[in-house]
Amino acid sequence: MSDGTVGWGFIGASTIAKQWMIGAVRAQAGHQVVAVMSSDRARGQAYAAENGIARAYDSLDGLLADPDVQAVYISTTNERHKAQCLAAAAAGKHVLSEKPLALTLADAAEMVRACEDAGVVMGTNHHLRNAATHQAIRREIQAGTLGEVVAMRIFHAVYLPAPLQTWRLNKPDAGGGVILDIAVHDADTVRFLLGEDPVEVLAIDQNKGMAQGLEDGSMMILRMPSGAIVQTHEAFTVPHAGSGLEVHGKTGSLFARDVMTQRPIGEVWVVDEAGRRDIPVEPHDLYGFSLGKFAAAIRGEGAPAVTGRDGVKSLAIALAAQQSAREGRRVSIDYGGY
Ligand code: NDP
Repeated sequence: MSDGTVGWGFIGASTIAKQWMIGAVRAQAGHQVVAVMSSDRARGQAYAAENGIARAYDSLDGLLADPDVQAVYISTTNERHKAQCLAAAAAGKHVLSEKPLALTLADAAEMVRACEDAGVVMGTNHHLRNAATHQAIRREIQAGTLGEVVAMRIFHAVYLPAPLQTWRLNKPDAGGGVILDIAVHDADTVRFLLGEDPVEVLAIDQNKGMAQGLEDGSMMILRMPSGAIVQTHEAFTVPHAGSGLEVHGKTGSLFARDVMTQRPIGEVWVVDEAGRRDIPVEPHDLYGFSLGKFAAAIRGEGAPAVTGRDGVKSLAIALAAQQSAREGRRVSIDYGGY
């Protein structure tokens, strides 16, 4: 904007934008949400009024032509991310896109290339690596306090809230299903915490009656280049599991509870020969942290917390898990050259 403020256009009148991302943008000095785009004019106008957003568009072209928009946040259903990202990049807007970036590896890679070619910043909105708990866990692993990592386990089974029991459960074409919704976050978490990219996956999925024609539960086993192995559990159907992760090394084990969540909560501790040691964590808002890194990247200072390339890689793992579950065999993970 002419006064130096970064204006954001929100593409998609979504739940996540309302719950977390509008506030996260407004928490950044010099950043404002100036417009929202919805495929439905009346709903978009109501959403803008309800959330104090000045302008509502019912076309992408309209939003991208707005001179006050310098960056877009894409949180539409997953099959729409790609075209919206390509159009935004072509219009010279920075792009923060929701996960999964797209439904195929080629499409996600095309999004990254378009942003790189246009010289705009691109980020993927995986939230978990923005958590103070995850950052503390990574520091422990990198400091070597656990010794060589042997295995990791992630518990990420939740109950999908009633208002979200829509396209995720019955629209394969929109990228529904628990693997593209939750396992993709777990994939990013594994990469972030262990600092390496899994090479193969064996996955099993299930349908426990909430989804129609899609999976509403999954488990993955991943093999890492170091030889470490990882086990994950994702579900839409389990209200009381709680969440957590464990990392087991040759000299110590790390335990984290309530850390696979959007909220800034959770506890982390290490057990080794000396006994139990609690890891201090100063919680901060996950989405605010993400926006802070993105804002810095726009200023030319560093990269977003999760880059577009990171989004390609988490998608590659999730797609390989889908294939493994479908075909009943281990699948080597193809990162498409990334
Ligand atoms: P919603 O179902 O709330 O919104 C998705 C899209 O559906 C909206 O952009 C809107 O499209 C349309 N829509 C919303 N409400 C209605 C309605 N009442 N009637 C008809 N259409 C409606 O999805 P979420 O907010 O849960 O997810 C959006 C994206 O964010 C997904 O890509 C998801 O994977 C991701 N996500 C990421 C999270 C994270 O922590 N990183 C957490 C949750 C979701 P339009 O405005 O164009 O009409």
